[in-house]
Amino acid sequence: MIEQKGATILTRDELKIVHLVLNTDCNAWDRPNTPGSPGVCRFCYRERNRVFADPDTVRRVIDLIRHESAAQRIVFTGGDPLMPYDNHLEVALAHAVDRGFETNLHTNGLLLADRYSGLRQYVTLYSLAIDGPDATTADWFRGTGFFERFLSNVEMLVADQRRLAFNTFTTTESVRWLLQLGQQISNIAARTSVEYWLISQYRPIGRPNSRKSEIYGYDPATFVAAVDQVRGIVGNLEVFAQPTRAPDDPYPFRAWILADGTVTADLGSVAAPRNAVLGNMLSDGLEPLIRRAFALRDTQFPASNSNDHATPTEN
Ligand code: SF4
Repeated sequence: MIEQKGATILTRDELKIVHLVLNTDCNAWDRPNTPGSPGVCRFCYRERNRVFADPDTVRRVIDLIRHESAAQRIVFTGGDPLMPYDNHLEVALAHAVDRGFETNLHTNGLLLADRYSGLRQYVTLYSLAIDGPDATTADWFRGTGFFERFLSNVEMLVADQRRLAFNTFTTTESVRWLLQLGQQISNIAARTSVEYWLISQYRPIGRPNSRKSEIYGYDPATFVAAVDQVRGIVGNLEVFAQPTRAPDDPYPFRAWILADGTVTADLGSVAAPRNAVLGNMLSDGLEPLIRRAFALRDTQFPASNSNDHATPTEN
């Protein structure tokens, strides 16, 4: 905790990364399934409503994050932040950069080429979803044509020497192809800067059901072993593993702020149906809401370390 002109702010150790949600819609839900697919991104746990905010509100939210925290980075996520309506993405990115934040555009990439020229100067890092090393595997997760779009995005970003990261979701089937995907990511990292690779297993949050568990759930030990194998072939690239947690093993703390100022937090429980809604930072302040979240988490997991804040998001 730091005192700044009489106000208390969150240190970088307490809150290094903030996720800003400009909209929770996503175009992947409209894509055609591949044969045998359970449906595009059924594992997705985002709420399917839209966040409403005007540009001034988005700027105020970013200003307040700056004023009440030493956070280093804002992750622009959703839904997909590149949805084809005015969610003030360019305004928000430019303002975040102006206030000294690094920016991470966390996207499925389906519309990246369309909006790239308007946002590239404000994006520090592009984190792209990719779940398999070929169209058969990758499209099964996120719809027909996804892999082809991924490859063209990578070529565009590599040619422009942008900084990348990757997010991978796994099933008992696809985890068998993780080494192959690791080789491809390693090849990309030889051509442009790649900051991290986040590999995740199913988390039963937000509309969980037994059918999803059957499709996506599998033994965490198998997951951990597969991730350990890929660590050996990707050199210095940082690999974050997100296995399905046991009830007494909390997920890392993460704060999600909607563009209207609503603050929500992942308090870590594998059994939580959704992120906790803490209040609105525009009326309640960010720092008190985040501290309330820390206290709630400590109550649920007294033995855990609340400062585990630095792991990037999955999508
Ligand atoms: S997982 Fe990501 S890409 Fe898939 S539907 Fe959800 S927000 Fe969209």
